[in-house]
Amino acid sequence: MDRVEEIRKYAEELEKGSAQEVSGWALKKYGDQVALASSFGAEDVVLIDMMANIDPRSRIFTLDTGRLPQETYEVMERIRDRYKVKIEVFSPEAKAVEKMIEEYGPNLFYKSMELRKLCCEVRKIRPLNRALGSLEAWICGLRKEQSVTRTEIRKIEVDGAHNSIIKVNPLADWTEKQVWDYIKENDVPYNALHDRDYPSIGCAPCTRAIGPGEDVRAGRWWWETPEKKECGLHSKVG
Ligand code: SF4
Repeated sequence: MDRVEEIRKYAEELEKGSAQEVSGWALKKYGDQVALASSFGAEDVVLIDMMANIDPRSRIFTLDTGRLPQETYEVMERIRDRYKVKIEVFSPEAKAVEKMIEEYGPNLFYKSMELRKLCCEVRKIRPLNRALGSLEAWICGLRKEQSVTRTEIRKIEVDGAHNSIIKVNPLADWTEKQVWDYIKENDVPYNALHDRDYPSIGCAPCTRAIGPGEDVRAGRWWWETPEKKECGLHSKVG
């Protein structure tokens, strides 16, 4: 059986599996060649709790864009204290940030979509590519109901956007209620901004609180249309 067939088989078998089963499968199959990409949102802290319970040596990495809210650094500290896990940090390349700011200003993202994407490229996508470069698989907290760009995700996918490594989405079919029930039941540390109407949290200048009835990702790049609201970290996979 070739690799694609093998993954397709696992994907079919595990599509209805629980989040613990899917995470456990990824950790067992890929060992230290799989890592969770965490921005310390509600879904990520659920996965950190699950993974730390399965194997405390589970790898976790984060992209420190340099523009994160203070509350995100605070929850990162609490996660470190609670689970004693090592969090690998990937920062943007200093020279690239300096050049970008000199040329376009510190708040370039508000000026055009092109400049917003440049900022995401420098601060997120290139560091992500470095993080994924040595991995066979990565785990993400994506859920189908989060946005119109995520309705087709599967629990196990081949990530065509990242060198065809395996992308694992254990919470793909979870509802927001399931996420919060898990957090409360297990007393998992979470980002304080969630209590201030920020369901989805990214960089401070590109995230705002949402109003009643608004989509959960309405506060991310709120000046853009819903179909464009991805930073490129989760491009469509194959
Ligand atoms: Fe830059 Fe905003 Fe993208 Fe963060 S979310 S990398 S600040 S454009």
